[in-house]
Amino acid sequence: MGPLRVAVTGAGIGGLAAAAALSGRGIEVEVYEQAPALREVGAGLHLGSNGTRLLQRLGLAAQLREMAAQPAAMEVRNWKDGRVLARQPMGASWAAEFGAPYYTVHRADLHEMLASQVPPERLHLGWKLAGFTEYGEAVRLQFADRPTCDADVLVGADGIHSVVRATVAPGGDPVFSGNSAFRALVPARLLPESAANTILLWAGPDARLLCYPVRAGQMVTFVAVITDPNWTIESWSTHADVADLATVFTGWEPAVQHIVSAVTQAGRWALYDREPLKRWSTRRVTLLGDAAHPMLPHHGQGANQAIEDAVALAVCLAEVPAVTVGAALRRYEATRRPHATRVQLGSRGNGSLRMSSGDSGRPGAVQSMVEDSSWIQRYDVERDLASLAS
Ligand code: FAD
Repeated sequence: MGPLRVAVTGAGIGGLAAAAALSGRGIEVEVYEQAPALREVGAGLHLGSNGTRLLQRLGLAAQLREMAAQPAAMEVRNWKDGRVLARQPMGASWAAEFGAPYYTVHRADLHEMLASQVPPERLHLGWKLAGFTEYGEAVRLQFADRPTCDADVLVGADGIHSVVRATVAPGGDPVFSGNSAFRALVPARLLPESAANTILLWAGPDARLLCYPVRAGQMVTFVAVITDPNWTIESWSTHADVADLATVFTGWEPAVQHIVSAVTQAGRWALYDREPLKRWSTRRVTLLGDAAHPMLPHHGQGANQAIEDAVALAVCLAEVPAVTVGAALRRYEATRRPHATRVQLGSRGNGSLRMSSGDSGRPGAVQSMVEDSSWIQRYDVERDLASLAS
């Protein structure tokens, strides 16, 4: 048997992390992305300690230090008068507690960092997967207006509307949370100084505003989650009306008005997830990232769980041919599905969602939010796999 050939569909955060982790372990990987170019898209992402420890091991420690932001603290403020209700130190104390830093990063910067770890000749742009067939010892991939390709393993990292998932685990309609999120980027120089190095959270009666630095503190991004059963478009690229944003925050404290008035362009996406899948894999095909476990953003874990999947998959496939592909995929799924499912379900009612306007002033509310996610932050998927193997 020759070297294992792995095909990854989707060059998002998960697909690129998988390609970096697989090629780092000497596995042949080809990535097929439908978009004709890797463009700057998205706004901010949270990288918890569970994700950054893996990115550091992938060789990205220096790039993260340079391009991400490491917030010194998280502050919860009263939505009406701006009083600081609670403050959780982060920065070095967080890194010491959880074993790796907590970063906030522009999605495009993380995307570019991961792409830099993948040999360019392995990345095929403008290749949209249309379907696949498993036969014998291989998988045949069919693309729109492109020739077919064969691989030993197919990894569906093709996001929330995954074509691969539709075959591997059919059904599973999107579940609308009744909320949607505005997101935008604002130059930090237009905002109060604290915005450049602090995660700021305001929780009002019908909306929550989370604001955090990216691009080494030069830009600030925010996500405003509002309850609106009528906004149902599940897309990362839908533009929002800036005037709607201003209306939502009428009557909020001056710092919020300041942030909202600095916005010139905003996106809006309805918040959906899906029920956890009962399986992720067939004999030679598996899922990863949002294709496997689309989750609500309240734990800030979408990208982190995709990175954990990517590294776990590489660790398991590196065992082939000592084990079969089927056995490697079963080990991958057995490690990842229970953990990611727990995070996916936890994202429905925990994390920043715990901060309602009535709750955020309660003593200990922030600490309990941190404790609530500490098992996620502390997790080291490579250590977990190593302990299962021994
Ligand atoms: P994704 O990041 O969604 O990547 C999936 C990739 O697969 C995409 O590049 C897509 O073009 C490609 N693809 C889809 N179908 C096919 C196909 N048939 N054939 C080939 N390729 C295919 N999260 C945030 O928290 N904040 C943000 O601002 C944010 N912005 C985003 C902007 C965009 C454009 C996208 C796609 C996602 C964004 N996300 C954002 C989501 C976040 O990146 C993901 O939740 C997380 O990183 C998991 O990544 P993933 O690789 O599983 O999926």
